[in-house]
Amino acid sequence: MEAKISIQKTGQLNVPATPTIPFIIGDGIGPDIWRAAVRVFDQAVAKSYRGERKIVWKEVLAGEKAFNEVGSWLPDETLAAFRDYLVGIKGPLTTPTGGGIRSLNVALRKSLDLYVCLRPTHWYEGVPSPVKHPEQVDMVIFRENTEDIYAGIEFAAGSVEADKIQSFLQEELHVDYGFSGSTGVGIKLVSEEGSKRLVRAAISYALDHQKPSVTIVHKGNIMKFTEGAFKQWGFEVAETEFADRTYTWGQWERTKELHGQEAANEEQKQAERDGKVIIKDMIADNFLQQILLAPSDFSVVATLNLNGDYISDALAAMVGGIGIAPGANINYATGHAIFEATHGTAPRFADTDSMNPSSVILSGAMMLDYIGWNEAASAIRQALAETIKKRTVTIDFYNLMKDATLLKTSAFADAIIAKL
Ligand code: NAD
Repeated sequence: MEAKISIQKTGQLNVPATPTIPFIIGDGIGPDIWRAAVRVFDQAVAKSYRGERKIVWKEVLAGEKAFNEVGSWLPDETLAAFRDYLVGIKGPLTTPTGGGIRSLNVALRKSLDLYVCLRPTHWYEGVPSPVKHPEQVDMVIFRENTEDIYAGIEFAAGSVEADKIQSFLQEELHVDYGFSGSTGVGIKLVSEEGSKRLVRAAISYALDHQKPSVTIVHKGNIMKFTEGAFKQWGFEVAETEFADRTYTWGQWERTKELHGQEAANEEQKQAERDGKVIIKDMIADNFLQQILLAPSDFSVVATLNLNGDYISDALAAMVGGIGIAPGANINYATGHAIFEATHGTAPRFADTDSMNPSSVILSGAMMLDYIGWNEAASAIRQALAETIKKRTVTIDFYNLMKDATLLKTSAFADAIIAKL
């Protein structure tokens, strides 16, 4: 009988000793990096639990492989498997061109309402970086994954829909703006529920992992009722649901109004001494310069979909690029989660056994943490760190390092396994 991961009413996962976990092998470089990664996962689990636990891998189809084998880019059985088994992992997928599905990744996220895109950015010693102090970068980004201008509600210039919306804006709402008729329209939707569940997840994470702060990143100075509201709703979640364990900059502002800046500063210092998580906010453009100037000021970051897209790639670049940046898409209420490499299929390098499998390996480590197999997750991260520190790396790092040893994808996995 298959053993399935399930979720209790309390939100705790039930994880059997031999859970079935669906995986998508991915297109392009997907098969190379998956074959390397899965050996690392299996060895780490076997060693950490002396053979008492084991993942039963179940391949499900998506992308080019699915299209070639069953004529569909994203078969229903694949969606059903991720729904049924709760936790899964995937390699990169080709985005189909032409009509139909806009993006397979977006379709997967939408169908399971995976509202958190989780991207930790941590530097491993020896990884080439364009910044002077990459060791100061240690952030975990919570990017809202379902809403915002990024959700794809948009209409081409000159389309009936765009014309209708523009007429409505002009005639009903008396909005006066430039070039009607030749204007594409995109709609930015940000809800209270969507904002609050994202910030709630970020605060819970900060509390569970003893992180000092959550920074809400937004453009609320300009987009007041979407990005500004996101910040406001974020502060509200902290002040109502985590009142005794957080201190917000909203509270700081109110104390400053009533009793002056010194009193507000003292109140925040006291909150820090009490071990409360400080809920800060920052305008997105300033945040993008502050992560370069003072990265150690930031820990957990909560942000909207589009900002999160830019921020996670900027931070990934600071710690070694997409070859090593892991990611996850999670719904903490239902337990559904899909872990994934953050890079694409790099089709030019398919079947060359040369690309860096670290992104998918570290995504797997996140998955092991998520199911509570933290010993195996830590073992993987430590073995990967040691491998890179020894300067035994794949081509992307090799090209940027001095005196390094070049390894194939498969040999890089062997080197990690030897250190487990
Ligand atoms: P890409 O991430 O595939 O590749 C860009 C470049 O990054 C590559 O040429 C390579 O030099 C480098 N690179 C990527 N992965 C690497 C690795 N593991 N090790 C070393 N270097 C690596 O981006 P792209 O070329 O813009 O997209 C190719 C395809 O992938 C498109 O179809 C795109 O839609 C898709 N895509 C999928 C995902 C996903 O499934 N999550 C994400 C991004 C892009």
